[in-house]
Amino acid sequence: MSMNNHATAHYKIIADSGGSRYRFFCDLSGMALCTTEPVRGDTQQQELKMAWETEGKKHFNRCAKCGRWVSDPMFNADMLQCVDCAPWQEKPNYCIHCGKEISGTDRFCDACGTRLRYREVAV
Ligand SMILES: [Zn+2]
Ligand SMILES: [Zn+2]
Repeated sequence: MSMNNHATAHYKIIADSGGSRYRFFCDLSGMALCTTEPVRGDTQQQELKMAWETEGKKHFNRCAKCGRWVSDPMFNADMLQCVDCAPWQEKPNYCIHCGKEISGTDRFCDACGTRLRYREVAV
């Protein structure tokens, strides 16, 4: 696989008296999603890992295809991929959970109750 090693999202280090704060950015939109409390480790790699595991990671979704870390609006939860790899469909034809064909304008699958996520398009 040619997937890059996206161990964490993009980040910037902000020096702080108590250590280093890490600011993490959505890989797709570039939006800053969180700034951690100061962390201090023996190496920068260790600090980064700490900051990411304890705080950063929970603000992100990982694309199953390209491996980038993206914010909720940049993540297609139906496909578990970023919207770059899996652009929103206007409307799914089949329930992603049970596979039943979707009819009408239901927001939920009437067979299994799964919420159907898609970008709502003004008609
Ligand atoms: Zn992707
Ligand atoms: Zn269903």
